[in-house]
Amino acid sequence: MAFKLAIIGRPNVGKSTLFNRLAGRRLAIVDDTPGVTRDRRSHPARLQDLKFEVIDTAGLESAAAPTLEGRMRAQTEQAIDEADIALFMIDARAGVMPDDATFANLLRRSGKPVVLVANKMDVNAARSGVLDAWELGLGDPVEVSAEHGLGMSDLRDAIVEALGEDRALAEEPEEAVLTTDEITVGEDIEPDSEEEAVYDSSKPLRIAIVGRPNVGKSTLINALLGEERMLTGPEAGITRDSISVDWQWRGRKIKLFDTAGMRRKARVQEKLEKLSVSDGLRAVRFAEVVIVVFDATIPFEKQDLQIADLIIREGRAPVIAFNKWDLIEDRQETLAELHEKTARLLPQVRGLQAVPISAETGRGFDKLMEAVEKTHRTWNSRISTGRLNRWLEGATGQHPPPAVAGRRLKVKYITQIKTRPPGFVVSCSRPEAMPQSYVRYLMNGLRETFNLYGVPIRVALRTSD
Ligand code: GDP
Ligand code: GDP
Repeated sequence: MAFKLAIIGRPNVGKSTLFNRLAGRRLAIVDDTPGVTRDRRSHPARLQDLKFEVIDTAGLESAAAPTLEGRMRAQTEQAIDEADIALFMIDARAGVMPDDATFANLLRRSGKPVVLVANKMDVNAARSGVLDAWELGLGDPVEVSAEHGLGMSDLRDAIVEALGEDRALAEEPEEAVLTTDEITVGEDIEPDSEEEAVYDSSKPLRIAIVGRPNVGKSTLINALLGEERMLTGPEAGITRDSISVDWQWRGRKIKLFDTAGMRRKARVQEKLEKLSVSDGLRAVRFAEVVIVVFDATIPFEKQDLQIADLIIREGRAPVIAFNKWDLIEDRQETLAELHEKTARLLPQVRGLQAVPISAETGRGFDKLMEAVEKTHRTWNSRISTGRLNRWLEGATGQHPPPAVAGRRLKVKYITQIKTRPPGFVVSCSRPEAMPQSYVRYLMNGLRETFNLYGVPIRVALRTSD
């Protein structure tokens, strides 16, 4: 049996936003159809490899109490009652409010496992709220942005820790964390402002370097920058904001963002695994291209795949560096094998750039930086509506959309509304009925025709009327 999770917190902290992220947008759309009564109190949800039920607290309307406060309290108590685990959410931007303490007490008394979640970490001012969170006596908060999907790996780990692996992973875990390019139905992708659309190579290219511990991140950063003193950068506790280093490669301006590796030596006592993901994330937030470092001698560990998957889901431009290439003997054979594995284990982005390097000898740096720039350009691509629709006509002619329930689906029009990464809106009849396999056919065609390899792409289906 999957476990049940409740998201608890005062209004406006971001509970529904997280609920929608966990339960999936598709579901929300189905449920919002007028005339469909929503009687289900919990919804199937997913967080990476975890499958569970999330309780729709807003749906607990039976709770009768005269005041709003009373109703909230009753709803909360009911949700806690039904749940196996509670996520207690605070708004890190607003800090800890008196109501938060009330909820924290309720939760503590329930005796249920609780994970404290500090939301809205995408906002700069959120740092102090996290420090306040300690007052609640619920331990170390997991820092997330429900809106932007940041911190989801940490949240997953915290849930597993609070519930115990046996309970959290009761269902068969999947082989690896594999998500596909994001397909949204009926929901708009936020359009870019026009100025972002043009590739401008005079602006600094923003890079972060991430990877699990010991893959060679610090060695790589120091070799790239050629200066040891970076290791003595700001220490944890003094400032935890991400910092960047300005640098150049063949005249191209680069901003390299701080990662765990750069600071690791300053705080050995911390749990390295956790550090690499959460600290790396802060850097990822600011980066355009993210170099994911793998150890070529121990490639494709679960954590490697999780990190790569996260970068892709964040919509960043990923480049894989297979480091420690100096230790590999059968280089040609190994490279072919690693490329095959990349395609198989990270299928969510076709044509991922993956480059062998040695951080220690400096081999492969030029190829790596070429891959970074190429991926960055693709990530910035903009394709004209005319070209897109000429292609669409051919693609739908060659392989028309299927019929569903006796009626043929129609795909009418495509336009790119976003870059960084490229995002497209496809107008069609009955978007909700369009099979994923057909959307995937279109995505593959888009990649091939417009050379969109190596970056995540987004496609949203919209009703045409
Ligand atoms: P609820 O009342 O707790 O369900 O909160 P909502 O999910 O409705 O969110 C309240 C407001 O906070 C909305 O305007 C959201 O867009 C915003 N919000 C939610 N999560 C985040 C986040 O991670 N970052 C930021 N900046 N805003 C968020
Ligand atoms: P981080 O935890 O990812 O920052 O990894 P480090 O940069 O601290 O490197 C971990 C270990 O791998 C150190 O002992 C490095 O000397 C070693 N290392 C890093 N890059 C290379 C490389 O290209 N070749 C070899 N042989 N060892 C490397």
